[in-house]
Amino acid sequence: MKKPLMVGNWKMNKTVSEAIEFVKILKNTISDVTDIEILICPPFTALYAVNNETRDSNINLGAQNLFWESNGAFTGEISPTMIKDIGCSYAIIGHSERRQYFTETNKIINKKTKAAFVTTLTPILCVGETLKEREDNVAFKVIEKQVREGLFGLTLEQASSIVIAYEPIWAIGTGETSSPEQAQEMHCFIRKIYEKMYSKNIADKVRILYGGSINPNNVSDLMKKPDINGGLVGGASLEAESFTKLIRYFK
Ligand code: PEP
Repeated sequence: MKKPLMVGNWKMNKTVSEAIEFVKILKNTISDVTDIEILICPPFTALYAVNNETRDSNINLGAQNLFWESNGAFTGEISPTMIKDIGCSYAIIGHSERRQYFTETNKIINKKTKAAFVTTLTPILCVGETLKEREDNVAFKVIEKQVREGLFGLTLEQASSIVIAYEPIWAIGTGETSSPEQAQEMHCFIRKIYEKMYSKNIADKVRILYGGSINPNNVSDLMKKPDINGGLVGGASLEAESFTKLIRYFK
């Protein structure tokens, strides 16, 4: 049985003091939770301080992005080695905002995915279609390309330990959620791609998260679906109270 994973993606939000305040509350409200893995992804500037707070807790730490080289003349970039060193165990890769605003291609995302594994970070590979692609009936084709090219060249072990996040772009930050049935259909499709690329065994092992306007009211219906193994959450992860409700959806 795969342990569900609930991820808070803070994006470009929270100063260091706001981040510490959040974590001090969250630590208390979810300290008894053991049957779900909890991950927060603060901005780079807050990682060091947050790690000092979460070190002995059940809260894991992740980065929102990384660069594929380990060091050198790459002004403004952060390497997987640095992210690992600061206490992270995960890194979000290929979020739609990075694809959209920073022109990240599947090729770049694949390089970042491989670089994460070099330092034993677990990548969370994000895929998702635009509204136009869904309306034009090419959503499945787009997702298949993103999955295949994002995973290109990974070993079987890497392919089974990576986390995939399906995030329809039209549902991110819009308040419009994919219906649980729509999400399940795409998650099942991604698992089938996995089966074709690797094996049924690996397809059964990989965790596939849903992301896109998850909130305390819709989380339970989404998480009941058999191929949804957790959530990637933006807006509703910014307040400790609502993120706690999401973490406790299974109770
Ligand atoms: C996200 O940041 O990946 C996301 C899904 O955001 P939101 O929950 O706000 O839609």
